[in-house]
Amino acid sequence: MRNSLLNWKYEKLAGVVLDNLSKKYIEGFYLPARESVVPKLEEILKEGSTVANGGSVTLQETGTIELLRSGKYQFFDKDAAADSSERWKVLRKAFEADYYVCSANAITVSGEIVQLDGSGNRAAACIYGPEKVIFVVGMNKIVPDIEAAFERIRYIAPMNAKRLNLHTPCAATGICSDCRSDERICESYAIIRNSSRNKGHYTVLLVGENLGL
Ligand code: SF4
Repeated sequence: MRNSLLNWKYEKLAGVVLDNLSKKYIEGFYLPARESVVPKLEEILKEGSTVANGGSVTLQETGTIELLRSGKYQFFDKDAAADSSERWKVLRKAFEADYYVCSANAITVSGEIVQLDGSGNRAAACIYGPEKVIFVVGMNKIVPDIEAAFERIRYIAPMNAKRLNLHTPCAATGICSDCRSDERICESYAIIRNSSRNKGHYTVLLVGENLGL
């Protein structure tokens, strides 16, 4: 019963969010389950094109990383870099990719896409560089407004710090203390509010499941 009500809620909410995104010239689709993500990406991504990605649990959970590594695309695979210097070069190449695929930390009901970043590569690539940007986002990341987006970020950032084995206070306590750690995960934020200067630049795939952190 609970699942069917949640599915109903997610579908209704997604309709509102997609409508608000379209008013901002951001295309979007609702996919009821994670299994639909790879087929949708296969429709969108041209074979042979260059693709880069932002670090994301959602991309792992939906099979997206596997797809990008399938050989259909020229994948700039930062996680396959031999060392930190090569990784840096791969991260920079992302800015010239045909497609950048990532998730988001939160999307507001009115259609603002919010990204938190440690080194800034993902936040930067989302707003400038790649030809097209595709967000894969679980409905658990839809929040009422910007204030709620930042609340959500403060809540999930310690889990991301823990996942990435960072030496931050929150990775030990589970709670944000607005630290000044050298490995701080919350260094920069990007908010995409509109895309009228670059219509069609963004595509959002809203997935009717709880995905990522
Ligand atoms: S500001 Fe520091 S303590 Fe707070 S979530 Fe970010 S890394 Fe963790």
